[in-house]
Amino acid sequence: MDTIRAMPPAAAGPTSEKLADGVFRINGAYNALAVEFADYIVLFEPGPQNEARAQAIIAETKKVIPNKPIRYGVISHHHFDHTSGLPAVVAEGITIVTPAVNKAFLETALSAPRTLAPDSLSRSGKKPVVEGFAGDKRVFSDATRSFEIYVIKGLPHADGLVIGYLPKEKILVYADMFNLPPPNDPVPNPPVVGTMVFLDNIERLKLAPDRLLSIHALVPDRLTSVADIKASLGRK
Ligand SMILES: [Zn+2]
Repeated sequence: MDTIRAMPPAAAGPTSEKLADGVFRINGAYNALAVEFADYIVLFEPGPQNEARAQAIIAETKKVIPNKPIRYGVISHHHFDHTSGLPAVVAEGITIVTPAVNKAFLETALSAPRTLAPDSLSRSGKKPVVEGFAGDKRVFSDATRSFEIYVIKGLPHADGLVIGYLPKEKILVYADMFNLPPPNDPVPNPPVVGTMVFLDNIERLKLAPDRLLSIHALVPDRLTSVADIKASLGRK
């Protein structure tokens, strides 16, 4: 969906919205989700678009959850518009978390010499730390909550695309698989493959989200529901 829809203008400054205790949407043309744990913060989609955007996400996260390190940054998938800000994420000392299939690519891309246009990573002298997790699930948890990362199966869009799910708060964060259709548009025929795959995976994993946050800002800009997804597919 990145390529077919014009990008909304950049916001004047980073803003955020509290979705639950310790859970914040960091707003933008590309949203991020900040999740607070006892000793650290996990950011879902820490480095979209460019370095400036990643730095704005990091700054807003530190503002809403002060005095804790952002330890992990989970990327939704490896496409460039979701990863172009990662040098700033590495410079911040954040461990990038992604399925093992993406690890070598990211390490190579983030370790290449940056002599033409030095960025925050080359200036920091930091080495990228990429956790490539095995299997289909990675869970962050402590006494307060858990945040479950699942690999989506059967998607043509990208290998190793993940969603994040907060089972207690019933919030799900995802990229690229569902876009709100214009009101009163007929149900597309054939249906949108990514959206069908998304719904299949939500059902396969037996997730029960009340609210879904799209990484891409939707029009209108709001959280959605499984009912919205089903309606877009002409299902009840
Ligand atoms: Zn995208």
